[in-house]
Amino acid sequence: MEPVAPIVKFSSLKKRYGAGPWILEDINLAVTADDFVSLIGPSGCGKSTVLKLISGLSPGTEGGLEVLGTTPKQARDRQAFIFQDATLLPWLTAQRNAELPLRLRGAAAPERAAKARAMLDLVGLAGARDYYPRQLSGGMKMRVSIARALTLSPQLLLLDEPFGALDEMTRNRLNEELLALRERSRFTALFVTHSVSEAVFLSNRVVVMAANPGREHGEVRVDFPYPRPAALRGSPEFLAKVNEVTQLLHQVEATS
Ligand code: ADP
Ligand code: MG
Repeated sequence: MEPVAPIVKFSSLKKRYGAGPWILEDINLAVTADDFVSLIGPSGCGKSTVLKLISGLSPGTEGGLEVLGTTPKQARDRQAFIFQDATLLPWLTAQRNAELPLRLRGAAAPERAAKARAMLDLVGLAGARDYYPRQLSGGMKMRVSIARALTLSPQLLLLDEPFGALDEMTRNRLNEELLALRERSRFTALFVTHSVSEAVFLSNRVVVMAANPGREHGEVRVDFPYPRPAALRGSPEFLAKVNEVTQLLHQVEATS
């Protein structure tokens, strides 16, 4: 069998800002194409920094980081970042917002319109294309944000607490939709969350981080097959995984 080429590979990576304390110490996370990895851990343990390093927004200080076979900066065109704040431009419609990344890349108007329309259809916003952000609910804004990211057909999707501001029902629905989108678009996902059940529902791997300095504390594999039905959340196997992750988090919180 061919060895599986990693999509993201940290090698003893350390990070600090200026002469400050180590923010991350000895990160060795490796992510492969089929992975949906969630990062979970106390505030300030460096989850967002891990995503920023991958996206090339912030250089590492020591050690190595390879993304999609190259440097984070050179892999930029093949990855997309989704934040908790949907960051839509208020003066543009949902359609225009979704077209923006392709516009910035110089795509022709018909092409970017068609692609944005297709992605908005996919996230269930066919009827809301001409709405402005102020006319959209929080969940709808996040759907536009996801559609916008997917217009670039990224191989790697980085999501930093994308559903943290949403109510639980909306969050659950978006979790299911995100997995359905992944069945179609086949991206690798790295997902930061504070919600244990969200991490378990979405991921095949949940990485628990500790703080001061930020590091990998442990990992829980979640082998439920995809696509995962909403009813999975009520099963004893699911709750056992939630407990496993929660116990790792308790260990981390007791020591930081
Ligand atoms: P998390 O996302 O897990 O809450 P972050 O990655 O945002 O953690 O932050 C990790 C640590 O790095 C925190 O202590 C934070 O204060 C620090 N930090 C983040 N960004 C900067 C920066 N630009 N300059 C200095 N320190 C930073
Ligand atoms: Mg963060």
